[in-house]
Amino acid sequence: MLIYNSATRKREEFVPFVEGKVNMYTCGPTVYHYAHIGNLRSYIMEDVLEKYLRYVGYDVKRVMNITDVGHLSSDADTGEDKMLKGAKREKKSVMQIAEFYTEAFFADCKKLNIKTPDVVAPATSCIDEFIMVIKSLLEKGFAYEAGGNIYFDTSKLDQYYIFNDFKEDDLEVGVREGVEEDGNKRNKADFVLWFTKSKFDDQELKWDSPWGIGYPGWHIECSCISMKHLGEYLDIHCGGIDNAFPHHTNEIAQSEAYVGHKWCNYWFHVHHLNTNSGKMSKSSGEFLTVSLLEEKGYNPLVYRLFCLQSHYRKSLVFSYENLDNAAIAYNKIIARALGLLKEEQGEVVEADFNAGREKFKAALDNDMNTSLGVTAIYDVFKMNTTAATKLALIEDFDRVLGLDIVVAAKKELEAEKVAAEQKANDPFIVEIEDMIRQRAEAKKAKNYALADEIRQTLASKGITLIDTPQGTQYKID
Ligand code: AMP
Ligand code: ZN
Repeated sequence: MLIYNSATRKREEFVPFVEGKVNMYTCGPTVYHYAHIGNLRSYIMEDVLEKYLRYVGYDVKRVMNITDVGHLSSDADTGEDKMLKGAKREKKSVMQIAEFYTEAFFADCKKLNIKTPDVVAPATSCIDEFIMVIKSLLEKGFAYEAGGNIYFDTSKLDQYYIFNDFKEDDLEVGVREGVEEDGNKRNKADFVLWFTKSKFDDQELKWDSPWGIGYPGWHIECSCISMKHLGEYLDIHCGGIDNAFPHHTNEIAQSEAYVGHKWCNYWFHVHHLNTNSGKMSKSSGEFLTVSLLEEKGYNPLVYRLFCLQSHYRKSLVFSYENLDNAAIAYNKIIARALGLLKEEQGEVVEADFNAGREKFKAALDNDMNTSLGVTAIYDVFKMNTTAATKLALIEDFDRVLGLDIVVAAKKELEAEKVAAEQKANDPFIVEIEDMIRQRAEAKKAKNYALADEIRQTLASKGITLIDTPQGTQYKID
């Protein structure tokens, strides 16, 4: 399996530290607002990665944090705490905000068929671990105290910039408005591990620490939560591309300084969902949510398909026109699957099944080419094999793609059956269909007068007949 590794800027063969096992970490949401569909693009593509790793047989353990403290309005440690901003906006406590938006996030994930990671850890539940790691970084000389805060000293590293060759401007960096220089820093790139600064006096959540009452920086939480649950060796770390710098760069700095060896082998970054006016961001306040798409009548899985149709390493422009095209494609796939359910099933032909599977695997093995993975579904419909084989293949691919194709087709089949039963039991419908049959017989016997009379009788009851090459249909006014 080839995967693009942002740390080496190459597509590499994926080889985990321990054969057959994958340790995977995902940066979770900052729960001060609803997740927007841009955030969810990242989580959808990471979900596909996790499911594909499982599909090819790896035993995956995936951990995700919930950022409920420490993420400031600039990713570079300046500005107000995002959680506090959310609490002020809604006149609630930080914990109320965190609880509400964490629940909302997982509700959205459920609608999008995004599996909940094996471990989900809110940052506020791991304060002891943060303090332990920061203490050790101070002891090892990788951190220093200044102005009451604890900073990581980036000058102590041989290499700090991992993803961007010392060119910060080359990367899409998180929100930067309100960036102020922090005079306590020894080096420009240094970052806060623990805040106690009086400037943040209105910070609601604070904990005692060896350096005074305060709260952790954002970056330390991911390193500590990952190491707590996955140990010192991480196979793959995921996140949106805006997290590469400074967040992931800082995670690597502090984790490797702490463990004293290489920490994570592969970095999987999902590029952004943009609108015509630019990047979608929570802080701008103008963003699209899953609920909004639902209100507009879209099935959330249509959005999932929309994401799968593009490569995760390309930025993706959202428009309703593009989403409508995805809806058409989704409905077509379900209709084709429904057609298969109605066919004579036959047996699953193993050779055909394996051939179909190889095509799908070839697409996903090639740096998660989900767009070709979706094409593999269309190829299945065209295969010269039994309906049972085709349905088995589609169900198999859907373990990764998560589009609920056969589930939705079965639901439609059931709905069709119920409608047919209702029709058969409705005396009014039975009578109409009987009269349509009599009219067809009259026409066949060239008794056009009778045929016309039947049409008129039905018209007087508000029923309009429509003759089509497939037979007579009717409309009830
Ligand atoms: P946040 O809730 O801001 O901490 O972000 C949650 C995840 O969404 C992170 O992995 C971000 O990198 C990612 N993200 C933020 N904005 C976008 C976007 N417009 N498109 C795709 N992913 C994004
Ligand atoms: Zn993180």
